[in-house]
Amino acid sequence: MTHVPPPDAEDRRAIAPVICYPTDTLPKPDLAAYKQRRTGARKTSETRVLPREAASFRVPAGGFFRISSVEGPQVGDLNLWNAADPSERFYSGKTRALHGTHLSTGDRLWSSFPHLRPMATVTTDTLDWYGIDEHGGSVHDVIGTRCDPYTHHLLSGHDYHHCCHSNLTRALGAATGAPLAEIEHQVHDVLNVFMCTGFTRDTGRYFMKASPVRPGDYIEFFAEIDLLGALSACPGGDCSAEHSSDAAACYPLLVEVFACDDPWIPPAPSGYDRSHGA
Ligand SMILES: [Zn+2]
Repeated sequence: MTHVPPPDAEDRRAIAPVICYPTDTLPKPDLAAYKQRRTGARKTSETRVLPREAASFRVPAGGFFRISSVEGPQVGDLNLWNAADPSERFYSGKTRALHGTHLSTGDRLWSSFPHLRPMATVTTDTLDWYGIDEHGGSVHDVIGTRCDPYTHHLLSGHDYHHCCHSNLTRALGAATGAPLAEIEHQVHDVLNVFMCTGFTRDTGRYFMKASPVRPGDYIEFFAEIDLLGALSACPGGDCSAEHSSDAAACYPLLVEVFACDDPWIPPAPSGYDRSHGA
């Protein structure tokens, strides 16, 4: 510390926080209605995401997708795009501002500007028992980014090609047929599925710890719009020690898609007029 605190420093620190984005005005997801739809949904596809790889999948609006742990504890990095327009994509930062650092049942995955609408809603989370642990850790975060070869190169000087960013880039390239250099910028910060993370209380640094996920655990989402998704089975495995290497034990993840024939009207994009006061 190089600056002297003011005489009222403790009073300033003692001010109670206020929530930045009160969500009382947001329409509450009708979870009972989603549950009803789910009973009429039928499985249409499944995709096995191999360890240290990513795979893509498509979900029709009004359907569901489930990400399951199989074989062993494994963290997944999830990207979502509007299937018809990949420039509309998941916005983890605004989702965090609206719902908090970690997502669970009833929380929504919001899309980028100028759309800002729910892309998906979490309808089931078998890890909802975990809560927030004594270290401030919780599951399914929107505070991390995605492990990537650029940061790895910055910190180590080495190249590693199976970081989630590269896995997701290859998966999006395979799904769209576009050259990687053209679509890499569409890969974005993720929902860290099953990952247990937080910020240290003393220094505010991003931490991870072994995921509590066990085979059979899953998180399920309702698709509010037509979705193209990609999921990477992170090279960090359960993220108990390190990522961006082949050191950790890694396991596959399972993605299952369920379609529902009942009609569904996707939420409208933001009503802001985009004149920006000009
Ligand atoms: Zn990763």
